[in-house]
Amino acid sequence: MIRALNRRMMCCVLVALLVCQSAPYSWAVSKQLKANLMKSWLITFSQILYPEDTAKENSYPVLSDESLTQLEALLNQDLDHLTDLHSRNVARLENFMDHKMPSNVLGHVRVENQGRPVASSVVDEQGRIEIRIDVEILQATFAASLANAMRENSLGLDKKTDFQLLSEFLEARKKLMEAKGKGTFGDFADIVKDRDSDLDSIEDFWSNLIDIQPRYEGAILFLMAHELGHFVLGHHGASCDLSKCEEFSSRELAADKYAGYLLGALVGPTYLTAFAFDSSFQALTGFDVFFVDAYGRAGFDSGGPVQCSCPYPKTDLRIETARNALDASVQEYARLYETDRGKAETTSPITIHCKSGKCQMSAPPWITAMFGF
Ligand SMILES: [Zn+2]
Repeated sequence: MIRALNRRMMCCVLVALLVCQSAPYSWAVSKQLKANLMKSWLITFSQILYPEDTAKENSYPVLSDESLTQLEALLNQDLDHLTDLHSRNVARLENFMDHKMPSNVLGHVRVENQGRPVASSVVDEQGRIEIRIDVEILQATFAASLANAMRENSLGLDKKTDFQLLSEFLEARKKLMEAKGKGTFGDFADIVKDRDSDLDSIEDFWSNLIDIQPRYEGAILFLMAHELGHFVLGHHGASCDLSKCEEFSSRELAADKYAGYLLGALVGPTYLTAFAFDSSFQALTGFDVFFVDAYGRAGFDSGGPVQCSCPYPKTDLRIETARNALDASVQEYARLYETDRGKAETTSPITIHCKSGKCQMSAPPWITAMFGF
């Protein structure tokens, strides 16, 4: 699970292999690597969101009802992880938010297909939260995560449009599907001659996948944690009109604060060790990608608020609010780890054990799956 290290080591192996063999154009790949890549969340989500091997400029694919059901099932798993995280941390959250909260939250996600940016939540008759997310938001968040990760990985990608990056990704995914799995190690070093694309090799594809996937999941987790925040803070009963825009604004910031703190509890353990330098763990908290890259692409800034006719707080302020809450959550985790390690370990599904300077992390499958392996 030591992503960054593994990636660097693998690059060294790749370079060594490259020197001594000339590769054919098509991808060849280890059987195990291909199997792992195929079941990664990114490939799974991308196959639902972009079922074809090509993309259209300026429009998202129209999805079938079956695809919406699949998306809903995946997002409901995410929501279960978030409500579990809430239950583990309810005392800390109440203390931080200075607000009494239910310790168990029941809820579900509904994926809508209205062709407009809607992410909202309502309380149903049984008192459960229903989070409604339009499929366009998922598609925009996917494009945003792709662009964010690839631009961070390679210089000069600013000139490429979302459409070009997405087309390259879909082309690479096609090559992966067609790649022949060979043996245990296979032939990783299949770098192609022409380097027009930034995903021209399985190595590039893999390295980008590891960076794209947690961003995508992180942005979705943040979006849902924000809605969960409205629920546990009792915002759903609030009335809103133009004369109460300040209250609307402070409710939005409170939901961001809750989401930052909740997700800080998820990644808290990774901040205490060398894992802190692996940005993919921090990407699991998602608000940077959500506000900087997904917000505009999803049309939140032009779509306007769904329930109140008030403007949302400035995105800079929202990022700052979520970041401060994340920092406070991580500091609180560190303090707890020093004073009551056993209790600290119950707050996050990620645990880290260090012995003589060597640290080992264990994380449940749903987290390791976000890193592709
Ligand atoms: Zn909100």
